[in-house]
Amino acid sequence: MRTPLIAGNWKMYKTVAEAVAFVTDLRSAVKDVTGVDIVVAPAFTAVHAAAQAARGSNVGVSAQDLYWEREGAFTGEVSPAMVKESGARYAIVGHSERRRLFGETDAIVNRKAAAAIAAGLTPIVCIGETLDERERNDTFDVLDRQVKDGLDGFSADQIGALVVAYEPVWAIGTGRTATSAQAGEAHAHIRKRLRQWFGGEAADRCRILYGGSVKPDNIGELIAEPDVDGALVGGASLDVKSFASIVKGSLI
Ligand code: PEP
Repeated sequence: MRTPLIAGNWKMYKTVAEAVAFVTDLRSAVKDVTGVDIVVAPAFTAVHAAAQAARGSNVGVSAQDLYWEREGAFTGEVSPAMVKESGARYAIVGHSERRRLFGETDAIVNRKAAAAIAAGLTPIVCIGETLDERERNDTFDVLDRQVKDGLDGFSADQIGALVVAYEPVWAIGTGRTATSAQAGEAHAHIRKRLRQWFGGEAADRCRILYGGSVKPDNIGELIAEPDVDGALVGGASLDVKSFASIVKGSLI
C-alpha cells in the first residue's frame, strides 16, 4: 500500500517571508490530515526557513534541484549535503523546465537523482513527453528512455524508495490537464517498465505522481486511478487554500 504524496513546486515564487507565512498557515490547515505525505518545494533561498517553520508538523520540504558534486568550484550550484542540512527531505530532479530551459539530459538527471539518494534525500524524478511527442505517438518511447536512462544503475531498493513524477509537458502551466484515462495509462506503463527492469517489489513500492495543471477539482478523479499515487502541483500550490484542498482531495 503506497501512501499518497502531494508535493507543491513553487518554482521561482515566494520570498523567505512569504514561504514562512505559507508554511505557518498550511501546517494549521492540514494539522488533522493523516494518510498522505505533504511536501512543499520552495526556492533554495527559502528551504531552510520553510523547514524550520514546518518543524514538528506533517509538512515536509523539498528542494527544486541540486548538483551532484559534494563541493568545489561550481559557481551557483548547491550540493546534496547542503540541501539536506537546510532541512529538506526531498529534491525534485529533471523537471521539464530544467530540461527545456537549462539543457538537462537524462544522464544529468541520473547523476542528480543518485547524488540525492547518496545524501539521504528522496528524489522526485520528473519525466514526461512534449505535445509533439504525444502527437507523433512517441509517448511510451519517450517515457521508456527517460526511465531507463534516468534511473540506470539504481538498485531495486533505491527504486522502491524514490518518487517518479509523470508530467506531460503540454499539461504544465497550461490549464490543460491530462484526462484521468491518459494519466492512468501512462502511469500503468511506467510501473510496468519499473517491474520489468527493477522487479515487482520495487515497482509496487515506488510512488508515481501525476503533474500538470492539478487543481482541487480534478485531484479526485486523478487519484482514483490505481497507479496514480499523488500529484506534483505547480500553480495551484502557491495558494494555501487550494493546496490544502488538493491535499484533502487526495484522500479516497
Ligand atoms: C509543475 O510545475 O510541476 C506543474 C505541474 O505545474 P502546474 O501544476 O502549474 O501545471
